[in-house]
Amino acid sequence: MIDAEDLLSRFLSYVRIDTQSDPHSQSTPSTEKQWVLIRELADELKALGIADVQVTNFGFVLATIPSTSPKANIPTVSFWAHVDTAEGCSGAARPIVHRKYNGADIVLPDDPQQTLTFENCPLLKTKIGEDIITASGTTLLGADDKSGVAIVMSAVRHLVMHPEIPHGKLRICFNPDEEIGRGTDKLDLKELGADVAYTLDSENLGEIDFESFSADGATLKIRGVAAHPGWAKDVMVNALRLASQFVAALPKELSPETTDGRDGFIHPQEIKGSPEEVYVRMIVRDFELDGLAQKGNLLRAIVERLQRENPRAQFELEIKPQYRNMRYWLEKDFRPVDYAKEAIRRAGLTPTSDAIRGGTDGSRLTERGLPTPNLFTGFHFVHSPREWVSLQDMTKAAETIVHLVQVWEQHA
Ligand SMILES: [Zn+2]
Repeated sequence: MIDAEDLLSRFLSYVRIDTQSDPHSQSTPSTEKQWVLIRELADELKALGIADVQVTNFGFVLATIPSTSPKANIPTVSFWAHVDTAEGCSGAARPIVHRKYNGADIVLPDDPQQTLTFENCPLLKTKIGEDIITASGTTLLGADDKSGVAIVMSAVRHLVMHPEIPHGKLRICFNPDEEIGRGTDKLDLKELGADVAYTLDSENLGEIDFESFSADGATLKIRGVAAHPGWAKDVMVNALRLASQFVAALPKELSPETTDGRDGFIHPQEIKGSPEEVYVRMIVRDFELDGLAQKGNLLRAIVERLQRENPRAQFELEIKPQYRNMRYWLEKDFRPVDYAKEAIRRAGLTPTSDAIRGGTDGSRLTERGLPTPNLFTGFHFVHSPREWVSLQDMTKAAETIVHLVQVWEQHA
């Protein structure tokens, strides 16, 4: 039902555009180059016949597909995908379509060290006969999240071409700067006007995620006592030494290097300073709020001990909330997740859920009052040059959206 070749050609055009975001920039979008794709998407929506396409000053592309149903009480559903790609690796891809993938090793030509094989990616065994898209070896593919963008665009096209499909009012949102955690801050949710939203920004075929980490940021400031090193005996207190004691006191079993699944961690990210003054920046993660609080208490206990042992130094620990597990809000009204599962089943798939070891735009949106679980796109190995996606999986995701809008209509 979804036009897969149309989806593919849109996807290939999006990934050629470099839309890397920049955490050090103060502007929104954080990079000028994101505007290229933002304007392109607005033009494509207009070309599909959408009347009210709007681009906000902060680079959000908003559009409405009006209701096709006589029912007046259908919740307004919104579909989101982000235009930016991650830092660390260029985003302007030279995409390669491996048609009817035959199971042979895929060697990426611009860096033959980069390969995809059954050994390093067993999931590929399930993709034989499908059309696999990769980059050429030296860039990201940018399927995170241009697969989401292409899927949403493709579903919009299908719904516009088939007004006989009954659904309520739909709101489309393509947003900048997800990868730097600022994807949603600059959008007025009243302007969006949606009751429920879905980000198309998850991996595996059939996946619907409704749990993310709960996250705090912590900063420890240590002030030492400065002295000339030649005459420092019994005078100097070296903050750098105290900072290294602090980091060494963080339990190894609570680090990202040693945890997975549903376990949280404390992760020191930056140490900056001099013998006089040091800052240690950390992130604290856990799926549950009490686990998050325990980790905060552990940090406080270590700092208190160091303060007792070093009375002439000054320690200041600050812990600030960043985002919260969206399950806390979604479990109050599970329809957004249940309806998505129903739509996934109607697309012939088995719904699965994974607890995301990170945050999504949906974590912030849900906390702000817009319930936003995360739907699959089919991308894999994201944030690496071996990123890949199957066209058939993207097509299934677009099909899932078409089912999902009907599920909301039928239950209203
Ligand atoms: Zn993403």
